[in-house]
Amino acid sequence: MEHIDVAVIGGGVTGLASARAIAAGGAPVCVLERHPRPGMDTSTRNSGVIHAGIYYPAGTLKARLCVEGRDLLYAFCAQHGVPHVRSGKLIVAHDESEIPQLEALQRRGVENGVTGLLMVDRAFIVAREPAVSAVAALWSPDSGIVNAEELVKALLRAGAEEGVIFLPGTRLLGADRHAGGMVLRTERESILARVVVNAAGLYADETSAALGSETFTIYPCRGEYAEFVPAKRSLVNALVYPLPHGHGLGVHLVRTTGGQVWIGPTIHYQERKDDYESNRLPVEAFVEPARRLLRDVTVDDLRLSGSGIRAKLHAPSESFADFMVRRDRENPAVVQASGIDSPGLTSCLAVGRLVSTIVADALA
Ligand SMILES: Cc1cc2nc3c(=O)[nH]c(=O)nc-3n(C[C@H](O)[C@H](O)[C@H](O)COP(=O)(O)OP(=O)(O)OC[C@H]3O[C@@H](n4cnc5c(N)ncnc54)[C@H](O)[C@@H]3O)c2cc1C
Repeated sequence: MEHIDVAVIGGGVTGLASARAIAAGGAPVCVLERHPRPGMDTSTRNSGVIHAGIYYPAGTLKARLCVEGRDLLYAFCAQHGVPHVRSGKLIVAHDESEIPQLEALQRRGVENGVTGLLMVDRAFIVAREPAVSAVAALWSPDSGIVNAEELVKALLRAGAEEGVIFLPGTRLLGADRHAGGMVLRTERESILARVVVNAAGLYADETSAALGSETFTIYPCRGEYAEFVPAKRSLVNALVYPLPHGHGLGVHLVRTTGGQVWIGPTIHYQERKDDYESNRLPVEAFVEPARRLLRDVTVDDLRLSGSGIRAKLHAPSESFADFMVRRDRENPAVVQASGIDSPGLTSCLAVGRLVSTIVADALA
């Protein structure tokens, strides 16, 4: 049996960033990932937006780790050559009646420590996004866009430089408590780890059960995208959002670092955690949300694009759950990095840093 100080379950951005931070602190660490490559679930099926930290209730981990993580992410991307752009973002008011909600959002952002937020008029909007139809907007200069696939690869490389052992094709099947920590069973081998980090994304609830730790439920919530046909990509220069509503930030427009323009993601709670394609919305379903942001969009301007599944810690009847990043309350050998839905991409380096401090306590 292999022995290691720390085993991280899950090689998405949360697990990779956590493993790198733990290894940088000097502890030997491995990452168990069931897929042949890292980041194949949610970490590469998202909008790729670097959030400034506006939306989340003050005092929550989401608010704090988004603001911290955003700055860490910009620095990491610059240092490691990850394609990204600090493009800024417009959250737009469709008509005058939405302006008070934008102002409330601005106050929330300021409370969260987001700087530079500005209420802007139609002239400002037209200068940046001539095709957008809006009477006013909240301008967030520190929002941006990152190439999520390249981020995953860079996190893997940066972890390897610190000594992280990445184990692809290694699914956690079960675990047993042991005097020295936890024995983790996989198809290939058993690993004795003193501390285990649960960063299993959509499967964090099942992983927690396998580890004999806290009981909770992850609710899979699908988000689908359409994209603009190449001839219409020039309609959007960066990031355009409506006011947030329901369970998400609203169907928005993103110009990716590769120059595609996506519209999405929609919101639909579903049973399965691995079903990205069945009963996909028709492309027609994206026309009305697109028209709320842009003038003159027709169904011919759009085609279907990818989809992702959010790992939500709350049922559809509730509206918010915070990230669960803490020492497990049932099993002291386990650290939870669970319920990491949006802004989990933005926050990954800050989540990793927090996980590494909790792990250091657990190892002490
Ligand atoms: C539609 C959508 C849009 C989003 N947009 C944004 C955005 O614009 N900005 C932003 O900041 N965030 C965004 N997010 C959120 C962000 O993508 C996630 O918070 C983040 O990717 C979560 O990463 P993770 O590593 O926790 O999970 P994952 O990427 O899902 O990684 C978990 C890993 O665990 C592995 N695993 C599971 N079970 C086992 C097991 N038993 N054994 C071994 N391995 C296992 C999986 O294979 C997977 O690779 C979006 C999410 C969605 C769905």
